[in-house]
Amino acid sequence: MSTCGPKMKMDPQLHREQKPSWIKVRLPNNPAFWSTKSLITDLKLVTVCEEAQCPNRWECWGQGTATFMIAGDKCTRACGFCAVKTAKPDALESDEPARVAEAASRMNLKHIVITAVARDDLKDGGAEHFRETIRAVREVNAGIIIEVLVPDFNDRDWALQMVMDARPHIFNHNLETVERLTPLVRSRAKYQRSLTVLKKAKQMVNGNVSTKSGIMLGLGERQDEILKAMDDLLEHDVTVLTLGQYLRPTPKHLPVVEYIHPDQFAEYKQIALDKGFRHCASGPLVRSSYHAADFRPELDVLDAIEADLRSLTGLELGPEHLPVLQTLKI
Ligand code: SF4
Repeated sequence: MSTCGPKMKMDPQLHREQKPSWIKVRLPNNPAFWSTKSLITDLKLVTVCEEAQCPNRWECWGQGTATFMIAGDKCTRACGFCAVKTAKPDALESDEPARVAEAASRMNLKHIVITAVARDDLKDGGAEHFRETIRAVREVNAGIIIEVLVPDFNDRDWALQMVMDARPHIFNHNLETVERLTPLVRSRAKYQRSLTVLKKAKQMVNGNVSTKSGIMLGLGERQDEILKAMDDLLEHDVTVLTLGQYLRPTPKHLPVVEYIHPDQFAEYKQIALDKGFRHCASGPLVRSSYHAADFRPELDVLDAIEADLRSLTGLELGPEHLPVLQTLKI
């Protein structure tokens, strides 16, 4: 799901370092958490919530939401920050898109986030599987907001186009870190390439998608570098930003250089909004998909996507037909 970087040598002392009081991971004690868990298990789905050891699982699953990770649980990349395992991936499961759609339906999701491991073993990087999953979700969940969090597809425009052809409402691709630290944190990804992917995705659908990106803080970046990354994202037409604290999943991963205080996160949020982002989620436990539904794309973007879906029918139909139209494949 993310790009790669070398795993660091073990540093047990740093890993055991006391976390500050504002990093609190709660334990599940809510029935909704267990029903989300059992539904995910029943449908044999993978979530980034579990695979990336997200600290918000109690909260998100307890609220009946989760982020689905398609195309397996083994990533072809080895990011220095990411807990998803690196291994030769299994074959794609052709019924996975339908199972994700069923989960969205049974969970009554109004907003779904779909991500994937990086599949550099596949020519299309898993783009077709993304497309089919978006279509399957739309088929059975009329009106749902579909957000994708994608890898860079090795800069293959035709693969990116496949995803955009399915018309997600929100296209998310994370910068993960500032430019200087990118080779350390994401060795096979490139900062500029990620910016270009974000811009191209929007251009491919004539601007009719909301683009979003995220940066982890606490990896040793300087404040001026964070502000520069914000400017770079804005220059590439990204309007939604997430900022969260990097937490080291295991001693083999990159160490935390700094725990950023919540007040500092609040300040970054204000700076981001002042600079021109439409929405910014910023806080120690913010992740790409944390409270994702808090951001709803602009009405004109939603209308344009609906119009595209409608135009495929070649008919003049009214809003009452939208649920039907949204079941049509594009
Ligand atoms: S923040 Fe995202 S990845 Fe983490 S538990 Fe919530 S939905 Fe899952």
